[in-house]
Amino acid sequence: MALEQSGVDVAFGEVAERIEKGRRFLVTTHVNPEGDAVGSLLGLTLALRWLGKDVTAYMEDPVPYIYRFLPGADTVVDALFEDDTFDGCFVVDCGQKKRLGGRFNVLKSPGTIINIDHHKTNDNFGDINIIVPEASAAGEIIYDLLRFLRVDITPDIATNLYVAIHTDTGSFRYSSSTSDAFIKAGELVRLGADPWEITIRIYESYPENKLRLLGMALSTLEVVEVDSRKIATMVVTLDMMRRVDGGRELTDGFVNFARAIEGVETGILFREESPGEFKISLRSKGRIDVSRVARFFGGGGHRNASGFNIKGGLEEVKMRVIDAVKEMSLGSDA
Ligand code: 5GP
Ligand code: MN
Repeated sequence: MALEQSGVDVAFGEVAERIEKGRRFLVTTHVNPEGDAVGSLLGLTLALRWLGKDVTAYMEDPVPYIYRFLPGADTVVDALFEDDTFDGCFVVDCGQKKRLGGRFNVLKSPGTIINIDHHKTNDNFGDINIIVPEASAAGEIIYDLLRFLRVDITPDIATNLYVAIHTDTGSFRYSSSTSDAFIKAGELVRLGADPWEITIRIYESYPENKLRLLGMALSTLEVVEVDSRKIATMVVTLDMMRRVDGGRELTDGFVNFARAIEGVETGILFREESPGEFKISLRSKGRIDVSRVARFFGGGGHRNASGFNIKGGLEEVKMRVIDAVKEMSLGSDA
């Protein structure tokens, strides 16, 4: 632990040097961004601006509706230009370069790529890689970096980092909710993050069509039992999203309902991305390492939450994924 910690400090030192020497920075994250992605991106963006840097905050996808209240969200852009030149590019909460989306590749000069992440499936694609799988959220690592840099954590920065940690720990319910996560969250509240205000924005402001879509998704619920271990599946099709006049961001959190059933160890959501392609979300109660299943299909994530994209028709895709989960379940005895 001590060694790992000093390794992180050395990397922080290198990052500090790059920041000091550079002027223009890009901060970006993965497609389909959730709370940790957006909160970490904005927390770091505001901190770099506080240090007087010229920062472009970029995401291929728009900021999801529920996160648009976050300070700095209105400054996020969704386009990059070939001739944009940066001294450094921070990639947060993203384990694989391809998850940045295709448009990132138009950049000829992203500068030093500094990857700050907590996915254990990270493939170290950066020039500098700060990967801390013990961190509950990328936001925790950003918090440590800002402390290292002696940045003044303003209420706006605190709000973003609090949201990153709060959402990625499932509101401090997951096993990733370490004492460090609580301590940093507590400190962020002291610095100005407002838990109830954030709760209202994120968990008490669902658009009506999200609940209608959830109703449709729940009606597809199936539970299969393999050697007394249960797997629950749910499906969201393009047609369902069309019927509620909404997009894929509405499905955030749906897969937790599948996992929440008593006796179910793995919940799976099949979300149709485009005709013949599905986005799979996997959630486990802990016994099964679903990041292994995701990695098998070219995706990634964490032990209890992972995902990937897969091509094929619904029934075929369902069979392949359920078979893979079954196989991994049989292979894992703990
Ligand atoms: P979700 O199911 O909420 O989209 O994702 C759960 C976890 O798996 C998140 O940590 C997310 O970053 C990761 N994840 C989801 N889809 C992919 C994917 O296609 N590739 C990789 N590497 N990770 C993914
Ligand atoms: Mn994360």
